[in-house]
Amino acid sequence: MGRVYNFSAGPAVLPEEVLKEIAAEMMDYKGTGMSVMEMSHRSKIFDEIIQTAEQDFRELLKVPDNYKVLFLQGGAHLQFSAIPMNLMKNRVADYIVTGQWAKRAYEEAKKYGTANKIASSEDKTYSYIPDCSDLPVSENADYVYICENNTIYGTKFKTLPDTKGKDLVADVSSCFLSEPVDVSRYALMYGGVQKNIGPAGMVIAVIREDLITDDVLPGTPTIMKYKTLADAGSLYNTPNCFCIYTCGKVFKWLKAMGGLSVMKERNEEKAAILYDFLDSSRLFKGTVRKEDRSLMNVPFVTGDDDMDKKFVQAAQAEGFVSLKGHRSVGGMRASIYNAMPKEGVEALVAFMKKFEEENA
Ligand SMILES: *Cc1c(COP(=O)(O)O)cnc(C)c1O
Repeated sequence: MGRVYNFSAGPAVLPEEVLKEIAAEMMDYKGTGMSVMEMSHRSKIFDEIIQTAEQDFRELLKVPDNYKVLFLQGGAHLQFSAIPMNLMKNRVADYIVTGQWAKRAYEEAKKYGTANKIASSEDKTYSYIPDCSDLPVSENADYVYICENNTIYGTKFKTLPDTKGKDLVADVSSCFLSEPVDVSRYALMYGGVQKNIGPAGMVIAVIREDLITDDVLPGTPTIMKYKTLADAGSLYNTPNCFCIYTCGKVFKWLKAMGGLSVMKERNEEKAAILYDFLDSSRLFKGTVRKEDRSLMNVPFVTGDDDMDKKFVQAAQAEGFVSLKGHRSVGGMRASIYNAMPKEGVEALVAFMKKFEEENA
């Protein structure tokens, strides 16, 4: 069997060119006689891999010099605790709860201080982004937290909230490197790489330098202190070497594609193909308020659970895989990350049209 069109929300599709390169280097990475999985993280050759990866990432995202880029383990989930442990100096933080991941981060933060839910879209199953232009930001909040793209519900902040001068912390797991962003508007942005960048098991965090200090909450594990990792160049302990190597290749691929403004155009074009169809379909409809639609995760339903199931099965048989919606919302979801080619979205829409004719 050949490659399928993989619409998984994560771990997700990777560029074929990258997979082929990795396969070619598996037995002998650049004359070392071994794969990257087998070499010391302290070796000169791995040092070059991690340095190049960081440099390319910085170039792609135009990371300012006063920000550190860290490669961290423990997934996005560990950051739900690491963020309050490192940043909650006043033990107060404000959370905007737009989905399950933001809610988990908010619940976790409560363990370390006062976490205030200052806005939420829970009333309508997180199908929209609340108005964040005049929020009741706490006077002594250490930061305001958002999940910028809500992977499960398919919403995205099109404008960042007005934090009234407070530091903004953002989980960008599912929109990382999908478009250019102004890093200076964030105090800290982080994302699990298994959505739009690489294999599972790593987070990349971009942190303003003044936030990286020894002044963390008592009891913070050494490995969770940003300063530990920053001082050690993300090599305090053994990092996820293979993931760093793979991400590095994806950064090279993104640069060769033309960088993030080109990716944004491509992603807008791909998403429009799917959303335009959903808006005209007699069988399928999108579940998100139009102005808040994500370019990366597109949830849709037929309104009939049995029909949804039938569609997912029929799609799977035709090589369109992982279209089942998250277990908490049902229906369908097509994740169309950077590595999903436009042909994949066009083929999916053609299949949906055919299914609609046969079933509407
Ligand atoms: C997938 C996801 C997470 C959870 O990531 P883990 O690496 O499994 O901890 C958190 N936030 C967002 C936005 C996600 O998409």
